[in-house]
This record gives sequence, C-alpha cells and structure tokens, in this order.
Amino acid sequence: MKNKNNFIYSNNHKHYHTYDYYLNKKYGVKTAKIAINAGFSCPHINQNQNGMGCIYCGEKYHNKNNNLLSPAEIISQFNNKKTALAKKWKNTKYIAYFQAGSNTFAPVSELRKIYESVLDTDKIENLAGIDIATRPDCINREIAGYLSELNKKIDITVELGLQTCHDKTAEFINRGYKLEVFENAYKLLAEYKIPVTVHIINSLPGETPEMMTETAKYIANLNPVPLGVKIHMLYIEPETELYNLYQAGKIKLLSKEEYIDIVISQLEILPPQIIIMRLTGDPEIPEINDISENPTPLWVRKKFAVINDIDKQLIKRGTYQGKLSGFEYLKKNHEDNILNMESENEYHNRLSLTNILSMAKRLFDISIKENGIYADFTMGKGNDTLYIKKACPSCKIYAFDIQKEAVEITKKRMEHENCLDGNVYLIHDSHANFKKYMPEDTELDGAIFNLGYLPGGDKSITTKIDSTLFCLKEALNILKAGGVTVISVYPGHDEGTKEGEKILEFAANLDKKQFDCLYHRLINIPDAPFIIAFQKKTPK
Ligand code: SF4
Repeated sequence: MKNKNNFIYSNNHKHYHTYDYYLNKKYGVKTAKIAINAGFSCPHINQNQNGMGCIYCGEKYHNKNNNLLSPAEIISQFNNKKTALAKKWKNTKYIAYFQAGSNTFAPVSELRKIYESVLDTDKIENLAGIDIATRPDCINREIAGYLSELNKKIDITVELGLQTCHDKTAEFINRGYKLEVFENAYKLLAEYKIPVTVHIINSLPGETPEMMTETAKYIANLNPVPLGVKIHMLYIEPETELYNLYQAGKIKLLSKEEYIDIVISQLEILPPQIIIMRLTGDPEIPEINDISENPTPLWVRKKFAVINDIDKQLIKRGTYQGKLSGFEYLKKNHEDNILNMESENEYHNRLSLTNILSMAKRLFDISIKENGIYADFTMGKGNDTLYIKKACPSCKIYAFDIQKEAVEITKKRMEHENCLDGNVYLIHDSHANFKKYMPEDTELDGAIFNLGYLPGGDKSITTKIDSTLFCLKEALNILKAGGVTVISVYPGHDEGTKEGEKILEFAANLDKKQFDCLYHRLINIPDAPFIIAFQKKTPK
C-alpha cells in the first residue's frame, strides 16, 4: 500500500497509534504478549444473586470459582508459551498478560503470590511488563496501592472493562456496575499512577452508531487520557443469554461496513497519544463452520481482513486517529468551548476577564495548527506545554526552563498524560539560548511566555528582562506569517514591573507593517497581570 504517512505514532502505513510502535519505542525490541489464565473467576459470576454474569459471557461455564494457580504453574504456563514464540522471533521481550476472568478478584496476599511469580528472573527471562485485565468493581484502594508497589518493580498496565459509557446498555447486558464505578476505579488508578487501557465493545444490543461514538468521546475526555483503548466487535457465544436473544430475533449485529464506519468515527475522536491496542477482536470460536450453532458473523473471525479494510478506508478518506481531537476538535466545538474543560465552572472561569492564563491561551489558540512548531519559553510546571500538545497532538514543542525541578515536574506530567513523544523537547537551559536547540531553519508557529517565578518554587529565581527581551526578539524573527507570540506579565514584583515596562516599550515601537501588537490589561487594577501578544503579518 503506497502512502506517505504523516501520522507520527506509527512506523508503517497505519493512521492510528499502533501498539507495536509503542512497544518498540519503549523497549527497543519486538515485544510480545503472553496470555496467562491464572485461574481467576469474576465477582459477577461468583458473587451476584443469580451468577448470570454479562449476557455475552462464556467464562461462567468454566471459571465459576477462583481456582488460582501456584507460582510454579504460572511460571510453567508462561515459559511454555514463550518457547513457542521464541521460535518465531529472536531477541524478544514479553508482557505477561493476565487475561482470563477478573485478575484482581482476590485478596492482596493472593495477588502478590500470582504477580510476583513472574518477577523471578531465575525462572522467567526478558519480562518487560505485566498487563492485568479486570473489572472496575475489583479495584479498591488497597489493590491500587499494591499495583503501585508492583509498578515500581516492573511496568504495569491495567485493562478495565467499560464496554459502553451508557448505563442503559450496561443494564441490558447485565454488566453489573454503573458508570460511576468505572469512574471511581479509573480515578483511583490514576491517583496511583497506574496506566489504564479501556476495553469497549461495538454492536451492543440497542446501541446506535452515535452511542458507540459517544463512548469514544467519553474515553477521549477522561483525565488523564488512558494509555490505550481496545475496540472489539461483539461476539455471540453459544449457550449465553445473548445467544438466546439472537435466536429469538432480538439482536441485530453490525455488518463489516457499518463496523468499519463506527471504528473510524471513534478513532477520529480519540487523541492520537492513546494507543489503539485492538481494532477488532480475535475470537476463539470452535464451531466456526456452523453458522447456525455460532451466529458470530464470518467477517468477525477474519481479524486481519477487518484491520486491512479499516487501514484502506482511513487512507481513502484522508483521515486518522485524533482528527477530531485537538485543533480540529477545537474548531468544531468552538461554540461550546469544551476543549480541555472539565466542568461548567471551568468554562465560566476560563471566560473570566481576570483569568489571565486562560485569556493568554485563547490568544495562543489562534496559532494552533496541525504539525505546528511551538516554543514554551517558560516551562514552569508544564501547563502550557501540556495544553499545546493536547490541542495539537501532531505538533513539535520546545520548552525551556533554567530550573531542573521545572523540567522534572513537566516530564512527569507529560508522561502521566501520555503526551511525551519524540516531538516534545524539555530543555534545561535559559530561553535566551533557545536557538542552540532548534534546527537552523526553524520557523515558529507560536510561542508563549508566562513570566515570573515557578509557582510554589524559589521566588528569588524569576525570569529576567535582559534574557526575556533577547529571547522575544529572536523568537519574533523566526515567527511564521500569521504566527502568534503571547506573553503574560506579572507586575506585582520588581523584576516583573521592569519586564512589563520594557516589553511594552519594545512592542509599541515594532514595525506596524510587520507585526500587530495587542495589550490586554485590567485598567482598574494597576498591579494585575497583563498580556502582550504579537502576530506576524502575512506579506501582501
Ligand atoms: S466481567 Fe467478564 S468474566 Fe465477568 S461476567 Fe462479564 S464477561 Fe464474564
């Protein structure tokens, strides 16, 4: 398939963030997953009133009760599968994927035995990480605390089953928990810095394409964004409640074309930093020749054909993951102004005239465009760097700070939000030296300064007028036509007052044929912070 791919989170023709790309970048070699059945059951089968589980669940016929394997059995299961894979790929790392049942449905003392068995480096080699699939109602503070402890020894990912964001559907499929249970588990795992993959299913009974797209929108707005998403088509396994409903003519499944359309809409909404761990399922259906016995459509069983068709359609439609997140999303939703806002309060706060930082961002938004190049000349705690990357995931950002602490805080924050990619440069140096770090022919689409000191840091370390002015002049020299530079100034301290006066003087004398300079200030509060913004004119 010939295609010039500008999508940065893929090494091949894919227009979405591939799991292979992520693993290769993280571990530097081929990394394969080894599925382990450690004998976990599921509380939904094991503990609820009728033991029915989800209406599509085939597990209830084999894992009725927890029957946990011993460490030796887990090691042997892992190594047997690894031996088979090692014949296919040399120099490989592995992820132990605890897949069957709900893999945190046991006391922490039991979880410890299970998970720490694979950490025994004498018995298991080349382990890169552990992936734990579970239900949100099997996460509590004690378990999250343990996973965080484990995460310090090896990379952990938790795969949470969501399936849909609609409680009405969840009730119909007998998922057994409401959306708020998922939200609480997600928040808890975020608090303990455990990366999460969210599992969703398309074609659930009663769901329209719009409802499935809303589930992707819900995931796109989670804070922090999840590490990954797994998208599945619904399977109908024999001897399930779903099977009975299907036989009674009450279930309509998506056609392949409908499924592909929905997946593409979901990809367009999901920010590109989210890894797409799956685009469709890989059903192990034994009765594959008898459609009357197993109504899962034949196309669902041909995973690679479905993925190929999705790839072709993405290219044909000129679209990609995240097309409607970030900048396009900002444009599309401009009237609602919902980008990066968590609540109505935040929306009103952002519109407040006294909210200088929000006003600076609104001016900066003018410069945001796909594949743009930006500079955050006062990194601080990374607010602006993160904002720019979220608004424009394909962009390149150079961020500067003279304080190491600022770089470290920003790095952690960007990693936590899964926004730190090869196009984000966090530089521990004065912004006056910025040119040293950019290719010679670099032109900026936008630059932002938030002057003063690091919030919560040493107040004696502030930006200084000489270096600020030098940096500003150099940055304006390489600003593209239409590009914007925004500076927030804090005149409440001596250096801030001097900076404000000098920058205003400089701005007032800039050639009006080359730049438009804007001054935004509350005129009835003399010490209030203010903004100066510059836009380079497009030559006529
Ligand atoms: S959560 Fe999974 S294992 Fe539990 S009942 Fe639902 S499908 Fe079955």
